[in-house]
Amino acid sequence: MSDANCIFCRIIAGEIPSNTIYEDDTFKVILDASPASKGHALILPKKHCADIYEIDEEVAAGAMRLAKKLACHMTEVLSCDGFNILQNNHEVAGQTVFHFHMHLIPRYQNAKNNDILMWSHETFTDEEMAQIRDSLKYE
Ligand code: AMP
Ligand code: ZN
Repeated sequence: MSDANCIFCRIIAGEIPSNTIYEDDTFKVILDASPASKGHALILPKKHCADIYEIDEEVAAGAMRLAKKLACHMTEVLSCDGFNILQNNHEVAGQTVFHFHMHLIPRYQNAKNNDILMWSHETFTDEEMAQIRDSLKYE
């Protein structure tokens, strides 16, 4: 249920302070302590799970439902110009806290760091793309 070594479990338990903006039986939503932008928040499921591979499907669906509601609410309050919803899994993908969380990142037209989520592009031949497509077909 909860992992004593997990910083987000400790925040959820109230052992470590946080700036909480929403809480219900399933989720706690806190401001990120090192925000990428004003209002950057994190949706934390209260039940510990490491990542997208471990999370219960219903909880994952609930996290996205909550993200939708908060994106609308935060955009209205902050008057931001756009919004990213981001979720990292495993170290190679940028995950640093191994308790599932969804980033809510308000974006502002004139922010200095507007390249925070830009990535360079890889190219694949048409053959490679077809092979990738075929290998990923999911029913
Ligand atoms: P990720 O890199 O996707 O695992 O994101 C982890 C996020 O948690 C980072 O954006 C950190 O700034 C944030 N973070 C780490 N510790 C705390 C904390 N005690 N309170 C709030 N946010 C935190
Ligand atoms: Zn945890």
